[in-house]
Amino acid sequence: MDMLKDKVAIVTGASKGIGKAIAINFAKQGAKVVINYRSDDNGAEEVLKIIEDNGGTAILHKGDVSQFSIAEELMNFCVEKFSRIDILVNNAGITKDTLLLRMKEQDFDDVINVNLKGSFNCVKHASPIMMKQKSGKILNISSVIGLIGNVGQINYAASKAGIIGMTKSLAKELGSRGINVNAIAPGFIETDMTNVLSDKIKESILSLIPLKKMGSVDDVANLAIFLSSDLSNYITGQVITVDGGMVM
Ligand code: NAD
Repeated sequence: MDMLKDKVAIVTGASKGIGKAIAINFAKQGAKVVINYRSDDNGAEEVLKIIEDNGGTAILHKGDVSQFSIAEELMNFCVEKFSRIDILVNNAGITKDTLLLRMKEQDFDDVINVNLKGSFNCVKHASPIMMKQKSGKILNISSVIGLIGNVGQINYAASKAGIIGMTKSLAKELGSRGINVNAIAPGFIETDMTNVLSDKIKESILSLIPLKKMGSVDDVANLAIFLSSDLSNYITGQVITVDGGMVM
C-alpha cells in the first residue's frame, strides 16, 4: 500500500464525491495530501479525519480554484507545508444542466470558469514548481460527456472537451520537463452530481453501459493512483475512460 509513498499531492474539490475518494486513497498509498475545497467545511474536515484516523497525512485548503490568485495561493500553500508538488489532480467541477434554449449566459460562464479555467489556473501555477523539480504528474478529471456530448449539457461538455485539449497540449509542452499529463474520463459514477438525476434518466444511461451498473468513486480513484504513481511513467497525453464500457 505504498504506491505513492512520500509523494505530495493536491486534490481540488476534495470535500466529497470523486475528489474525496482520490484524497483518501492517495493518503492510504502514502501520499501527503492537500485537500482543496470551496465551501463545505464539514465535508472537508471529515475527509481530513478519515485520512488521519487511517494514519495518513493531509491538510485542508479552502479556496475557489476558478479564481486565478486562489489557485496560486493553493500551490504556494502546498510548497510551504510539504516543500514540493508531485501530483496535481484537477477534480473540482460543477454542472448547470439545461437545454441551450433555456441556458443563461451565466450558466455557461460558471461551468467553464470552474471546470476549465479552474484547471488552467492550477496548472499555470503548479507547472513552474514541477518544472523546477523536473518531475510531476498532472491529472485532469474530464468526463465521457466531453467525448460524446449530451443533451442539456453544452456548457459541461464544452468544459470537459476543453480539458481534453488542454491535457494533450500540456503533455506536449511539459513532457521534456519530466511532467506527465493525463485525463480521466469517468462515466456514470455514484455521487451527489448524479444523485440528482431522475430514475428515468438513470435507467436510460444504465442501458448504455455494458457492465450494467454505475461506477463507484473508488473505481475512479484506482486509476488516479495508477496515473499518479511511477507505474505510469511512460504514459502521457492520454484520456482514459472509467465507464463500464459506456464509450468505446
Ligand atoms: P461532487 O459535486 O460530488 O463534488 C465536486 C467537488 O468539487 C466538491 O467537493 C465541491 O466543493 C468542489 N468544487 C466545486 N467548485 C469548486 C471550486 N470552484 N473550487 C474548489 N472546489 C470546487 O462531484 P463529483 O461527482 O465528485 O465530480 C468530481 C469531478 O468528476 C468533476 O470534475 C466532475 O465533472 C467529474 N465527473 C463526475 C462524474 C460523475 O458521474 N459523478 C462523471 C464524469 C466526470
